[in-house]
Amino acid sequence: MSRAPALPRYLPCPCRSEEADPPAYTACCQIWHNGLAAGVDAGKHAPTAEALMRSRYSAYSVGLIHYLLATWYPETAPGELELSPIKWTGLEVLHAEETGDAGVVEFIARFKVNGRAQKMHEISRFVRQAGRWYYIDGQMMPDEK
Ligand SMILES: [Zn+2]
Repeated sequence: MSRAPALPRYLPCPCRSEEADPPAYTACCQIWHNGLAAGVDAGKHAPTAEALMRSRYSAYSVGLIHYLLATWYPETAPGELELSPIKWTGLEVLHAEETGDAGVVEFIARFKVNGRAQKMHEISRFVRQAGRWYYIDGQMMPDEK
């Protein structure tokens, strides 16, 4: 009798996929994704600007357009969003800080386009309103390497 191939214990969360022992998606960003599933506000929101940024990265990774739009500050959000065929391969948060209801997160997101590894270095701005964090916009940083 042949052995069944070992299944992964869990799906690692995309936002921590580069870490040695990443948490499961179900124990990380999926909590926040489910909290805003398809127009339903279940009252569970990413508690920090960094958590929101991570959950948005994971939403890009798993293709949750409604979550991206629901966490985008209404005044800067696009009316609709189409995801390009990018394979996201990792996220590194370089710096995150909050001052009152304002948050800033600097990160590097890695991805592949047509098999070519690329990265995006961005400083994103966030704001908290009525207990929810929203993405405002981001400034791309030139690649220093
Ligand atoms: Zn996550």
